[in-house]
Amino acid sequence: DTETNARDPASTSLRTPIVAVLGHVDHGKTSLLDKIRGSAVIEGEAGAITQHIGATAVPLDIISTIAGDLVDPDDFDLPGLLFIDTPGHHSFTTLRSRGGALADIAILVVDVNDGFQPQTLEALDILKRSETPFIVAANKIDTVPGWNENEDSPINDTYESQSDRVRSRLDEQLYEIIGNLSDEGFSADLYWRVQNFQRNVGVVPVSAMTGEGVPDLLAVMMGLSQRYMKEEMEIDVQGPGVGTVLEVKDEKGFGTTIDTVLYDGTIRADDQLVVGGQNEPIVTDVRALLQPRPLAEIRTESRFEKVDEVGAAAGIKVAAPELDEAMAGAPVRVVRNRDLNDVIQEVQAELADIAVDTGEE
Ligand code: GDP
Repeated sequence: DTETNARDPASTSLRTPIVAVLGHVDHGKTSLLDKIRGSAVIEGEAGAITQHIGATAVPLDIISTIAGDLVDPDDFDLPGLLFIDTPGHHSFTTLRSRGGALADIAILVVDVNDGFQPQTLEALDILKRSETPFIVAANKIDTVPGWNENEDSPINDTYESQSDRVRSRLDEQLYEIIGNLSDEGFSADLYWRVQNFQRNVGVVPVSAMTGEGVPDLLAVMMGLSQRYMKEEMEIDVQGPGVGTVLEVKDEKGFGTTIDTVLYDGTIRADDQLVVGGQNEPIVTDVRALLQPRPLAEIRTESRFEKVDEVGAAAGIKVAAPELDEAMAGAPVRVVRNRDLNDVIQEVQAELADIAVDTGEE
């Protein structure tokens, strides 16, 4: 692997794990993402949370503020979590990195009332096949009749404040989910009983509505990443960028653009790129790298601001000529100081991988 050989240990750094949210329709994927984003914005005040294109970065210090005693920032050296904003397994299956899943880790959302549904099973199947570590968010705990709401509270505190009847009803629902997971071949338990998250799936009771359990969810995601994925998060921070196209979009004033999740290296405003296309790899030069402009600054100006460089993991909009045939899920690679033909071949090999994978489904 020439990329690994070319890596300079001095510029190696840990990137943010990329998180995807899956689950059956209406089980609360979007609400959960909104809740996490909302909490992060409130805790972070101005500027601390960065809205990316197609993703939301929640830095470690914000996670620690939201999670309180559950996350001591000194225990972690991963910089935070990057949530892909488009929930659902369609985006999960089409978004790949080097043949694997683009997301490093996933949250499977299950409505505690509705339990396992067809898309829950599909999502589990996809997670199993892609060997993606995941936790289960047992959502909508606030709908248990008689529930006493404690906004944004850790699960233990809110559980303590419920009546016996409410607690035993919730326990029943949670054990049903644990049983369903077991039927599908996953050994699972309530997350605080799980010793080894590689062998057992942790179930985190949450409410995307009230924020209860969200501190736990973030703490578990952070802990799992730190413990089991640290090595995979080591990247060459200065190296040529590698990413995946989230979406191809026409953008007024910029033409066709690609919303891209970068998972390795950097991309610069003067880079040459190779992008997977419908027929053949597209070779093009970056015209502009665009990030969402902070809401306060939007007047009559563009929604985007231009940046000179972005480092992984990040979501970025790339404007460049020739992108009409680019496709969602396709690889993006920065050429920089390398042989263009080598990079084209890398992209072709990745495209072939994707074709094989899709063919198997
Ligand atoms: P998605 O299809 O999985 O993205 O589900 P949504 O996030 O759109 O949620 C579906 C519905 O469930 C919406 O009406 C939400 O307001 C509601 N919902 C989501 N999470 C919760 C929750 O924790 N508690 C309650 N009471 N309602 C929820």
